[in-house]
Amino acid sequence: MGNGAKAQQKRERNSDKNAAKGSKSQAKSNEAAKSIICATCKQAFFVTTRQPALEEHSQNKHGKGIAECFPTFGK
Ligand SMILES: [Zn+2]
Repeated sequence: MGNGAKAQQKRERNSDKNAAKGSKSQAKSNEAAKSIICATCKQAFFVTTRQPALEEHSQNKHGKGIAECFPTFGK
């Protein structure tokens, strides 16, 4: 097992270097930065997204109010 574990570690380190390819850890941190989710279409928005932008999304995309698409916003 010893050798196998070492090889595995090496692979993981190599994949860290190839983050440009889109490693899983990178995708995960990107998802964490987006925590506002539209209840209607499940589109994710960055936590820093301003209310007017969310209102625009709700109205332009769904013809709904912000409270319907983002019920948890500001709570
Ligand atoms: Zn939406």
